[in-house]
Amino acid sequence: MAGEPQDDCLFCKIVAGLIPATIIRETATTVAFRDINPQAPTHVLVIPKAHHMDVAALATEAPELAVDILRETKAVADDEKLDSYRTVFNTGSGAGQTVWHAHAHVIGGRGMQWPPG
Ligand code: 5GP
Ligand code: ZN
Repeated sequence: MAGEPQDDCLFCKIVAGLIPATIIRETATTVAFRDINPQAPTHVLVIPKAHHMDVAALATEAPELAVDILRETKAVADDEKLDSYRTVFNTGSGAGQTVWHAHAHVIGGRGMQWPPG
């Protein structure tokens, strides 16, 4: 059921403390931790503690959590002293989503190109 922990979900396991992660921020509803394969000097993932499969599902099933995620992306950028940064929600495998638990990538600390690859 939407919002319930999933036994086979990597990010639910990080929320539960079953898999280690470098957690840099936590709120009642969110966790922010460093990506294991960083694409820039700062690469942090912000996730809801509740399981929702992607950001679109999150916005439909628990819109208040979508706002919590966006608020935390800004807090991460402030903590990391980033004036410019990119917030990415890969949605669907064709767009590069590999973990089916909603997450924002906060990427910064280097110059970036547009359009993205
Ligand atoms: P996606 O490809 O779904 O948009 O993003 C998933 C992200 O999770 C990838 O950037 C990947 O490097 C990261 N990731 C995968 N496994 C782990 C892990 O065990 N720990 C951490 N911290 N990040 C992970
Ligand atoms: Zn999950």
